[in-house]
Amino acid sequence: MNEKKLDILSLTLPELSEKLTALGEKKFRAQQIYGWLHVKRVQSFDEMSDISKNLRQKLSECFIIPKINAVKELISSQDGTRKYLFALPDGECIETVFMEYRHAHSLCVSSQVGCRMGCTFCASGKNGLVRNMTPSEMLLQVYEVERLTGKSIGSLVMMGIGEPLDNFDNTIKFLTLLSDENGKNLSLRHVSLSTCGLVSEIRKLADLRLGLTLSVSLHNADNAKRQEIMPIAKVYSVDDLIAACKDYIDRTGRRVSFEYAVIDGINDSSEDANKLSGALRGINCHINLIPVNSVDGTGYSKNNKSVLRFKEALERDRLQVTIRRTLGSDINAACGQLRMNHTQSNPC
Ligand code: SAH
Repeated sequence: MNEKKLDILSLTLPELSEKLTALGEKKFRAQQIYGWLHVKRVQSFDEMSDISKNLRQKLSECFIIPKINAVKELISSQDGTRKYLFALPDGECIETVFMEYRHAHSLCVSSQVGCRMGCTFCASGKNGLVRNMTPSEMLLQVYEVERLTGKSIGSLVMMGIGEPLDNFDNTIKFLTLLSDENGKNLSLRHVSLSTCGLVSEIRKLADLRLGLTLSVSLHNADNAKRQEIMPIAKVYSVDDLIAACKDYIDRTGRRVSFEYAVIDGINDSSEDANKLSGALRGINCHINLIPVNSVDGTGYSKNNKSVLRFKEALERDRLQVTIRRTLGSDINAACGQLRMNHTQSNPC
């Protein structure tokens, strides 16, 4: 990538407007160009047919339109889930999962190349963080999957590779671009952002009142036990995390969803269930149990009976619980697994 040229797809409309004014252009041009990029989604300035040749030339001297390329596509024979391995402009790879539901098509996007959170059960962080993804690299997952499938994405989850709140500014810019009425115009009510629990960033996010659903990966309500599987728990205690979630609910009026990957013999005892009920009682929330996906080298496994037992214990305490439907289990749809396997066999 040419370092001197600006990534035009990562600019919000006001930012683009400012850049164009600095180039001596009229303000209305920004909206016109923004439409070419985010509605018509052209891949070169030459395709912007109602823009003068002179301006197109100027644009190509100052900006680039980045692209991502699918290097692998796996389609589940069970449920049509598609998993893409995308090469970013610098050759790094990330993955994106497209899911078909009865009412809408949903996309699971990545926010970082790798991850530095080090959760022991997760494939994404096995080799640490390589780099943050740019707003356009997050957005291009949506545009490219819509182009490849010919289908419109109606909801989105930030549950792919990476910790979105560890890439806070780029994530917010991505959400701004995604929801812009001059672009994809996806209401943030249809977006869930999943975090391992970065308390300061949860508070910053609450301040923005974006209307999205916050999902918090809890996986254990006991501090010491949570620390064994999630290093971030050494930075923020469960009490601090729950307090930030309560504030988030109060300030945004949205309920929070708690993710709990149920791991056989690690966090699925009746004591673990009691601890979880105690921590979440009275909070406007929903619990999503995920039977753990075994990742090579972790030694963790799932036990469907214990997941059910765990669910029943929580329900007895009147908590709202669902067990996440497993989509694409035949194509390793759990985040990070495809990239991990690909990077091991042929580093990109
Ligand atoms: N970093 C963010 C988002 C990415 S992970 C977060 O931690 O929430 C998305 C969800 O998948 C999280 O709830 C994460 O804990 C869960 N997850 C990761 N690996 C998993 C595995 N092997 N089995 C089940 N859930 C897993």
